[in-house]
Amino acid sequence: MNTQKPKRIVVKVGSSLVTNNGEGLDRAAIGMWAEQMATLLAAGHEVLMVSSGAIAEGMQRLGWAKRPKDIHQLQAAAAVGQMGLVQVYESCFARFNLRSAQVLLTNADLADTERNANAKATLDTLLKLGVVPIINENDTVVTDEIKFGDNDSLAALVTNLIHADLLVILTDQGGLFTADPRQDASATLLSNAVAGDPALEKMAGGAASELSKGGMLTKVLAAKIAAQTGAATVIASGREPQVLTRLMNGESIGTLLSAKP
Ligand code: GLU
Repeated sequence: MNTQKPKRIVVKVGSSLVTNNGEGLDRAAIGMWAEQMATLLAAGHEVLMVSSGAIAEGMQRLGWAKRPKDIHQLQAAAAVGQMGLVQVYESCFARFNLRSAQVLLTNADLADTERNANAKATLDTLLKLGVVPIINENDTVVTDEIKFGDNDSLAALVTNLIHADLLVILTDQGGLFTADPRQDASATLLSNAVAGDPALEKMAGGAASELSKGGMLTKVLAAKIAAQTGAATVIASGREPQVLTRLMNGESIGTLLSAKP
């Protein structure tokens, strides 16, 4: 990766990764990321996590095998599941002597001047204290990320808010491919591109494959938003061993979408 020593890093993990394809929260995976976060913090980076998985965990706790269509049922599931989600994050992070904090935000909060300033000041303070914020959408009051994106755009807006240098979107795919690899055998992994290039949206279109709404399109759009404040975005597999520490060591993994200089 050719990103110069990123100081502030936002790491976004999607529902399918956090919940092991819907089969309950994946403690082993969360523990793995926590261990890498500890390494990054020790190396002087500041890290924030944007994690979904509340609805998936809530469905599990409520005994729902099928994702309901009713939006208020989904919001209720998110409220139930958020309890489990932060519990697992807290215990996994504590194993590596890391402190974590729950932060629930909405796109509308970040569009409001006063709320934006408050959110920024709180996150800046948490980072100075060495605490890792675990951010999710406040699904009780909005439905943006439930309907579309699985927190991809929220992660990009957080990147803008705190002027992060890098957004890492961890997903269940190896990165952005030139076409959908499940349908086109000639598809190849794109390792480098400029965020905001309209050709990327064409490549990513319709590649939704995750447990909840999202897919590659919202990731490519998130990279475009992140680039507005100069941040680069990496889309990579969250199952890749030591993905975060290897990226920080300059290894090329997944797709790097750089901001235009
Ligand atoms: N904020 C939601 C969650 O954490 C979004 C993901 C979804 O729609 O399943 O569960």
